[in-house]
Amino acid sequence: MIPYSQMTKEQLAAEKESLLASYNEFKARNLSLDMSRGKPGKVQLDLVNDMMNVLGADSDYKAENGFDVRNYGLLDGIPEAKKLFADLLEVEPKNVIVGGNSSLNMMYDAIARAMCFGVLGGKKPWGKQKKIKFLCPAPGYDRHFAICELFGIEMITIKMNSDGPDMDTIEKLVSKDASIKGIWCVPVYSNPDGITYSDEVVKRFANLSPKAKDFRIFWDNAYCVHHLTGEDKVLNIIDECAKTGKPDMVFEFASTSKISYPGAGVAVMIASEDNINATKKQLGIQTIGSDKINQLRHVRYFKSVDGIKEHMKKLADTITPKFEVVLSKLDSEIRPLEIADWQTPNGGYFISLNTFPECAKRVVALCKEAGVVLTGAGATFPYGKDPEDKNIRIAPTFPPVEELQMAMELFCICVKLASVEKLLG
Ligand code: PLP
Repeated sequence: MIPYSQMTKEQLAAEKESLLASYNEFKARNLSLDMSRGKPGKVQLDLVNDMMNVLGADSDYKAENGFDVRNYGLLDGIPEAKKLFADLLEVEPKNVIVGGNSSLNMMYDAIARAMCFGVLGGKKPWGKQKKIKFLCPAPGYDRHFAICELFGIEMITIKMNSDGPDMDTIEKLVSKDASIKGIWCVPVYSNPDGITYSDEVVKRFANLSPKAKDFRIFWDNAYCVHHLTGEDKVLNIIDECAKTGKPDMVFEFASTSKISYPGAGVAVMIASEDNINATKKQLGIQTIGSDKINQLRHVRYFKSVDGIKEHMKKLADTITPKFEVVLSKLDSEIRPLEIADWQTPNGGYFISLNTFPECAKRVVALCKEAGVVLTGAGATFPYGKDPEDKNIRIAPTFPPVEELQMAMELFCICVKLASVEKLLG
């Protein structure tokens, strides 16, 4: 295989003909495959089924403090769930609010509270200030950006480097613009690049000196134990912010969505004790408490952080072969042609690929026409607009391996076809 950039026009035209023939063959197969979202596959979900047996009809339904989990109460969660998540994220139980089934929901609520009432130490609700802005490292998680868009928060795109977001730009911007109120971060196996922030990046976050006194880092630790081929670990941002005397500057979030059940797991918010107390005051108006039966079910099933880690190894055994399918196809089909680049993450849920500029939309459209749905091109950038139209998020966890193989064959054909079209003008 020779790189496309070294092919003559005639060679490219011949390549296009042959790719179109393969593409049309795929189309004739009437595929219907979904690789659009980072969802666990059925085998993964089946691995947690015994959780349904740990609280039977004859259970005592008692938390360790004797509280009947079937009843109202315990706004911030049952003590053993607070302890389990505190251990997992290496904080104290007093730093934890155990919520319902979605960390995204907790992040949304944190933004909504800040908009309506302000944050601890802030003079005015964000929503009552003239204009407010968020920094958005991108490629990033589309739903973070959607929250900002819904609340009318202006988004500023920040470049992602191989060790985390571009800290030079972040430091410069937050130190001089008081309308910048926050930043979205996915510090471990980031969505979609699979990048883990270096110690230096975390320390620089903890050392930020924002002009806005009501600035918050939204530290979405969604993939903290989601190892595949490595064991990336990020510095503890709660500790680091405490060390720099800025304990209130960060809200951390996590959930068991990709550990147990997405939509039926347990989510947490982690912050300084003062932040937690301020949050609880407002949260107590919104709810009397979250689903404590589910919290107890999770604690009795996993038992400890070691229990969670053991379980994650089983999940990795089912996910790793799927990542291998994607990466080996890209290596054999795309790499020699020098038409795209991508990261090889040690964990998480995604592989993020960059095509030639102005090709990502075309690739996604070609795949869709042939029956494979990918995350929309642009979705990984604020306002759904990838300035270079080159990033595509590949989510390999949901389809079974055989289907994934087929989808990747088609995907590679589409990347090649879009690249040839681009080179031919
Ligand atoms: N945060 C990130 C970075 C994600 O990728 C996802 C899901 O894909 C979520 C949060 C959603 O988490 P939850 O299911 O706890 O709302």
